[in-house]
Amino acid sequence: AQAHLDAIDRAKALNAYIVATPDRALKMADVSDEKIAKGEARPLEGLPLGIKDLFATQGVHTTAGSKILEGFEPHYESNVSTQLWRDGAVMLGKLNLDEFAMGSSNETSAYGKAISPWRRQGSDAPLVPGGSSGGSAAAVAAHLCLGATATDTGGSIRQPAAFTGTVGIKPTYGRCSRWGIIAYASSLDQAGPIARTVQDCAILLGSMAGHDPRDTTSVDLPVPDFEAAIARGVKGLTIGIPKEYRVEGMPAEIQRLWDQGADWLREAGATIKEISLPHTPYALPAYYIVAPAEASSNLARYDGVRYGLRVPGKDIAGMYENTRAAGFGREVKRRIMIGTYVLSAGYYDAYYVRAQKIRTLIKRDFEAAYASGIDAILTPATPSAAFGIGEMASADPVEMYLNDVFTVTVNMAGLPGISVPAGLDAQGLPLGLQLIGRPFDEETLFAAAQTIE
Ligand code: GLN
Repeated sequence: AQAHLDAIDRAKALNAYIVATPDRALKMADVSDEKIAKGEARPLEGLPLGIKDLFATQGVHTTAGSKILEGFEPHYESNVSTQLWRDGAVMLGKLNLDEFAMGSSNETSAYGKAISPWRRQGSDAPLVPGGSSGGSAAAVAAHLCLGATATDTGGSIRQPAAFTGTVGIKPTYGRCSRWGIIAYASSLDQAGPIARTVQDCAILLGSMAGHDPRDTTSVDLPVPDFEAAIARGVKGLTIGIPKEYRVEGMPAEIQRLWDQGADWLREAGATIKEISLPHTPYALPAYYIVAPAEASSNLARYDGVRYGLRVPGKDIAGMYENTRAAGFGREVKRRIMIGTYVLSAGYYDAYYVRAQKIRTLIKRDFEAAYASGIDAILTPATPSAAFGIGEMASADPVEMYLNDVFTVTVNMAGLPGISVPAGLDAQGLPLGLQLIGRPFDEETLFAAAQTIE
């Protein structure tokens, strides 16, 4: 724990942590030392972890990367982090993220951008670590923690993992409790780990997962031994390659990586089969209706009364307005406006209801593929390697949204997806491949990801 706290101090320039919690870390580490001395070590005893600052941590400033939560110290602890501490892990601090997890580059955080430890060959230009779990990915890649919690609403675990050469899994919707995680889009949000290896991810997910009656969408299923599943390999499995993911303008090196991944799986004994997921092209536009719609509703609670920031006004409505005007950043305001618009009386059927219908069609595409004997699906994780700080932020916001083209389908269908590092691009930056599984079959994903890793 001390070595990691020192590393965090030395790597302040990456801005991966919003706040480090050294006192808490050392206290927890002391308990771990005692447990180990007594021969009572728990499964994660003494392992130093970072927590995305979207998870409520009792008595520790929890910001969601937003000014509007300034001063908010929850009196409760998220279910996922509670389980990590139960198993002996040590908390190093709270990790940077895009404001309310809205973004793909960690550039929308009110606490400053997080920066990737990677650089293009021969260049000093800083790169984004991806988003929204950019702090989690940067911290894991830079060895500022052993592993981190993250959340994924439309790719926020898998895309930052791909950008930083780390492993990230978004489990099946319902696998981890959302209790105590600040909501972005509740029907899509899911917690998962980012770590440096498939095995580390499997171990961490085993602790984070499990039924919690306080989240009504948490599923009451036993948590499998994910770590043991890695050894199963892929012999006899059928892996689908969805042709619709061969999007226009995809760089040749991404296509090569994808082919390479398929070859590795084939050599390990899997059968590779081209499949069709015909509604894929509609996933991104539908996601950017459903997610803002839910966000606009979830974010209505930040009114200056219950949490964090309050900016006075001449009456109560004025106070709401001033608080929300000062507290939310540009991207969050954009999402609230889009969400409010698509849910409004005149447009609800045209946008929100249609997006929900598309969501069902996307889900059925996957169901049909799995019913035809496909065990998992292989795709690129992102359409490119990490981009430079500021390179996308100034452009049309839709450019940034396009980054999520391969990841949002998985959230729309509630399926598990893992991103695993698979190679480097011509400039020496990491690229990731994504494996998508059947509902509650994270085990196959760990086994297949290990083959690629
Ligand atoms: N980039 C996507 C968005 O901004 C995904 C975010 C996420 O998964 N939290 O909505």
